[in-house]
Amino acid sequence: MSLLRVSCLSKHYEGPRSLVRRLSGVAHTVVRAVNDVSLSVDRGEILGLIGESGCGKSTLGRAILRLHEPTSGKVEFDGADVTALPPPALKAMRRRMQIIFQDPYASLNPRRTVAEIVGLPLALHGIARGDEARRITERVLEKVGLHAGQLDRYPHQFSGGQRQRIGIARALVSNPEFIVCDEPVSALDVSIQAQIIALLLDLKRDLGLTYLFISHDISVIGYLSDRVAVMYLGEIVETGPVAAVLDAPRHPYTQSLLSAVPEIGVKRSRGRVRLQGDLPSPLNPPAGCKFHTRCPLAVAACQTVVPETRQVGPGHTAACHRLDENLSLLEGAR
Ligand code: SF4
Repeated sequence: MSLLRVSCLSKHYEGPRSLVRRLSGVAHTVVRAVNDVSLSVDRGEILGLIGESGCGKSTLGRAILRLHEPTSGKVEFDGADVTALPPPALKAMRRRMQIIFQDPYASLNPRRTVAEIVGLPLALHGIARGDEARRITERVLEKVGLHAGQLDRYPHQFSGGQRQRIGIARALVSNPEFIVCDEPVSALDVSIQAQIIALLLDLKRDLGLTYLFISHDISVIGYLSDRVAVMYLGEIVETGPVAAVLDAPRHPYTQSLLSAVPEIGVKRSRGRVRLQGDLPSPLNPPAGCKFHTRCPLAVAACQTVVPETRQVGPGHTAACHRLDENLSLLEGAR
């Protein structure tokens, strides 16, 4: 059974208006950061969310937790409609749903000690204060590979990897069931990345956690996820079990992402598919299939008709007009 179910979730922002547009009364533009996203995460599962920087992955993670209020759609957690919860109930729910942020430098208050940073959720949720909070904080710090003697230090006294461990401790201290891991290793050196990934996997196993793991690195997603969702310009274009999606990707965008990683556990070597141009602006997304401006397989219909999401295997879906032709950019790129 799904612990988290997201249905048709959108997050749109008011776009910038130039002086000329303001004076002429032109309506606000809209940034469609997340558009009509549906996904689910089973209890104890890791769903990897992959896509280029700026595609809306982090906004989706925050909208799920209502750190950014969704524009429309529904988020259900353990059967409760998170999107409809009034503030007191939402606060109580946040004990169970936490987030680890990407930047271990910016996400920790430099004026607070580790004890204050990690202990803050205990006070906010009325779990513990004083000596009891300190004891809980010590235990959580040990779980993440730090020790009680570091409680009264400040963030600047730690390395990047240690700071991320503090961020993980802060997420764990309220004893959550579900954590949005928002690019938790992308700001770290590769050797430290491996340590933090191992720590997150150990914690998941020991504490029975469920993760939505966001990354732009498909090799990281392939290593630790049970299932994967591929996001392009605010929409999910392919989802499925990690082995199915990475060994036999059906969407051209997923194929292009995979082609950039020569070694991810697959036996054959793949050439590089170079996409033309940058990710289009969510202020003015292309009509039809949003990937058509960069897709080497695009045909005329792709410019005007939005492709349906279709089942292409057990638990495996993709949204592309050319699925029946079984084309692969990876074949041509070898
Ligand atoms: Fe490419 Fe067309 Fe498929 Fe979109 S629908 S991914 S543009 S082939």
